[in-house]
Amino acid sequence: MHSCPLAFAMLRCFKPIWVMLLGALLLHGRQTSAQAEPSAVDDRPFSVVLLPDTQYYSLRFPERYDAQTEWVRAQAAERNIRFVIHLGDIVHLNTNREWKNANRAMSILDGHVPYSMVPGNHDMPFRAGRLFRNTGRFNRLFGSWRYEDEPWYGGNLDGRNDNNFCFFSGGRHQYLVLSLEFAPSDFALNWANRTIAAHPNHRVIVATHAYLRRNGERYTSLDKQYGVSGNSGEAMWHKLLCHHRNIFMVVCGHAAGVAYRQSEGLRGNLVHELLTNYQQLENGGNGWLRILEFAPRENIIRVTAHSPVLGQTNLHPRQTFSIPHRMVWQSGRPPEPVLTP
Ligand SMILES: [Zn+2]
Repeated sequence: MHSCPLAFAMLRCFKPIWVMLLGALLLHGRQTSAQAEPSAVDDRPFSVVLLPDTQYYSLRFPERYDAQTEWVRAQAAERNIRFVIHLGDIVHLNTNREWKNANRAMSILDGHVPYSMVPGNHDMPFRAGRLFRNTGRFNRLFGSWRYEDEPWYGGNLDGRNDNNFCFFSGGRHQYLVLSLEFAPSDFALNWANRTIAAHPNHRVIVATHAYLRRNGERYTSLDKQYGVSGNSGEAMWHKLLCHHRNIFMVVCGHAAGVAYRQSEGLRGNLVHELLTNYQQLENGGNGWLRILEFAPRENIIRVTAHSPVLGQTNLHPRQTFSIPHRMVWQSGRPPEPVLTP
């Protein structure tokens, strides 16, 4: 062995600084780990509201659309509403008057309850059996410019809000809501794959306007039906949804009625697929919407059909039911996938 007098002298010389630096690092480490620990576990139930096809409200019954968002805002504290997901078909005929009505209704939530918007087929021009991917009117009102200063807004694809993602938290977890355009292109699905892969510790809800039919089957030919190139529900499942362990829910509108199915992803995770759309009911839907109440201690999500306009809850088992979703576990380790019979 040989000694290095110069290095030793330097170490002696800089010892106070070295000790201070080490001390600062240790202190910083302690602060960081202390910050990473949740100060208190909040296992209170929290809710996410699904706003299905508001197209007839925007066209003819704007007061019912206003009543929905006013109710959400008024109930936000009591029901611990963390997020609102609009399922698309915001308007019916894509006219300025309808967009004005939709803007007024959604503005009621601005600054109060975070929400995501996504265009449906009626939010774009449809001529001679062909849908045109022109979302200019949607983006003029509900573009990223409206949300980009919000801490809960995650981003979008190519500066347009047709495909976007947002965040909320509830219980012990962070959630990511990823909204995809009508019959999303491969380009959009590739972006979605990258976005979800970049957030492996978030629990993911995917929203897209058309995905599930009323009979519980996924769409297979939206491209032919609407004369637009893109992916239907079944292709979305195979190209995106089945591949990510942290996707646990897909929500959609479009088809009149409700449907529910559950599928197993390739990583063994359970994915709950929910169709919600009440536009076929009286007065454009009479204000019916879906509440997803996450109850962490019970490890269930309560799905409830409710109309703030009528002050009613529909207790039919197709409308209102509970689904398993593990949020609290005994070991303190991340949960294993939960499969139900
Ligand atoms: Zn539609």
